Amino acid sequence: MDIRPYRGRFAPSPTGELHFGSLVAAVGSYLDARANGGEWIVRIEDVDTTRCHPEFETSILRTLEAYGFEWDGPIVRQSERTAYYREVFETLKREGFVYGCACTRKEIADSAIGTDGAPVYPGTCRNGLAPGKKARAWRLKVPDMTIEYHDAIQGHQFQNPGRDVGDFVLLRADGLFAYQLAVVADDIGQDVSHVVRGADLLASTPRQIWLYRCLKKDIPAYAHLPLAVNEAGEKLSKQTRARPVGTHDPVARLVEAMRFLNLHPEKTWHSLQDLWNWAIMNWSIGNVPKRQTTRSPDSTYQE
Ligand code: GLU
Repeated sequence: MDIRPYRGRFAPSPTGELHFGSLVAAVGSYLDARANGGEWIVRIEDVDTTRCHPEFETSILRTLEAYGFEWDGPIVRQSERTAYYREVFETLKREGFVYGCACTRKEIADSAIGTDGAPVYPGTCRNGLAPGKKARAWRLKVPDMTIEYHDAIQGHQFQNPGRDVGDFVLLRADGLFAYQLAVVADDIGQDVSHVVRGADLLASTPRQIWLYRCLKKDIPAYAHLPLAVNEAGEKLSKQTRARPVGTHDPVARLVEAMRFLNLHPEKTWHSLQDLWNWAIMNWSIGNVPKRQTTRSPDSTYQE
């Protein structure tokens, strides 16, 4: 029997304001946590300080508040947790899972493209650096083996990270810890039992599961929400100029996000709290579609 208390999370990267795609991730993770009587935490994923801005963090948190989200505990920021990531990294290194890599981006650019759109690392430095070479980045050894898991929305998933991704970077050449390490270290450190997030991260999950196995920690339950895409079929993001959801009409935006997840509340509500109570009562992860089934409302927002 699973006796682990439910703790979910929303983990936005402050690289832009909250748009419809990130609102869907917030709503899905929040409803699933609350409907299961669980806790829900917010973590600011600003580990890549080169892409993140504090003003976006402020704006994301202000938007979540305006929409009536209530998180448990303090907000955690990845930019303040480097010492902890270092500890997790050293554990992996001590256990022999990590090696220094001297390859430049150019040197691996010719490799086959893997599942996440980047070249599969060919393993050049796996058995030691060539004489005179210095480690630039640090990689995790991944096995040539299929990793399988059950996703509560997407169903049975599998990937061979050795073949589809290759040994991946944990500590970057610029000295920053990589997303894959930070996210797993934090989900472990914060005792997250359920990861509910956008399907754009499906291809990262087997790598993350491998990290849990190396660290001998419990793997969370996963549910990957349908990805919101624009008219051109592109993921909503800052790069594709997704519009911020703003704070002027939280009820309308929440109703859209809930409909996207196949919940169908009325359009008008006396209060945000009534809408949330209704949604928590009516939430069922089994009703969430695998993929976007309606047009994303992204194009209908006022500027
Ligand atoms: N920080 C990631 C993002 O904003 C989400 C990571 C996760 O949920 O695991 O895309």
